[in-house]
Amino acid sequence: MHDDPATVALHADAELAELPDIAPAIRPATTFAKEATPRYYRRDSHETTERLEAVLGALEGGRAVVYPSGMAAVAAVLRFLRPGRIALPDDVYHGVRSLVSREAGYGTWDITSTDHLSGGDVWWVETPSNPKCLITDLAGVADEAHSRDVRVVVDATFATPVLQRSLALGADFVVHAATKFIAGHSDAMGGVAVTADAAVTAELREVRRDDGAIPGALETWLALRGVRSLPLRIERQSASALALAEYLEGRVRRVWYPGLPNHPGHDVAVRQMTAFGGVLSFEVDSEGQAARLVEALRVFRNATSLGGVESLAEHRIEADPTAPPGLVRLSVGLESPADLIADLEQAALAAGVNS
Ligand code: PLP
Repeated sequence: MHDDPATVALHADAELAELPDIAPAIRPATTFAKEATPRYYRRDSHETTERLEAVLGALEGGRAVVYPSGMAAVAAVLRFLRPGRIALPDDVYHGVRSLVSREAGYGTWDITSTDHLSGGDVWWVETPSNPKCLITDLAGVADEAHSRDVRVVVDATFATPVLQRSLALGADFVVHAATKFIAGHSDAMGGVAVTADAAVTAELREVRRDDGAIPGALETWLALRGVRSLPLRIERQSASALALAEYLEGRVRRVWYPGLPNHPGHDVAVRQMTAFGGVLSFEVDSEGQAARLVEALRVFRNATSLGGVESLAEHRIEADPTAPPGLVRLSVGLESPADLIADLEQAALAAGVNS
């Protein structure tokens, strides 16, 4: 088996193809003739699901289980682990904070700091984090957590399995919002949980069947189509994001991108990632300036989400009330980096930033 992600993304599912077609078929059937195939019912699984899981598992170096959204993958892993306590980082996707807090309110678990975790608890890591791209030393956290029998779950949506091998670095589970870079075209929701343990994977699939949390045929197909080009896209998006971060540095109040040497996680990112990803954030002086800047952008679209081929900008406080008021998050797409820089320049002028 090849291990370069560029080849893995294209061929890791080859043996699972049920038709000779070079491109996987979209197969919407929910049930299958019993005399013709061992397949039973689509809520269990189907060809496209298994092919997507084969590719994502191979990229991550484990076994993948796919879900209809990133949050569905997060919820599935947490419900499987049933921890007494969970520690969340300060900078974490607000949807994860919301889910964990709501369940804490129901008495499902307690939220605590990492110092107070012990046997069976969950140390939640998001690296790079949303929106500040903060970096956690995964190998260090895994050593510390495992010495206390604590499980490490990593949300590596920003890194993708291409830039960071989270299981090899010591995580017990890795989750991704496949909606973002993996599917990559802002047209499919999806999520994935990956672990090295075959028995755990089998149980997650059984729970998924019982929960009815199987992704739809079109979404799965779009994610499989999208992941084929993930290695190439993320390479280009990372290079462009670095160019934008370098351009913004010194022109705005603060830039959050792990590829910049003055980012607090730069040294760890250099060790645990092969590039720094396609998302960066920056802060301007005021909430008003940030709002005006995002509105003035012409190539970047003003929209939430990230990881697609088109560049997006978001005044983050509109989605996450804990974000700094002047913070703008950029998801860098596949446009020319020179055009993106020119767009930022004209919008900053229009918004009175850097004037
Ligand atoms: N994790 C991170 C880091 C995210 O940014 C997101 C969505 O933005 C999610 C999880 C949730 O993914 P989804 O929207 O597919 O449920």
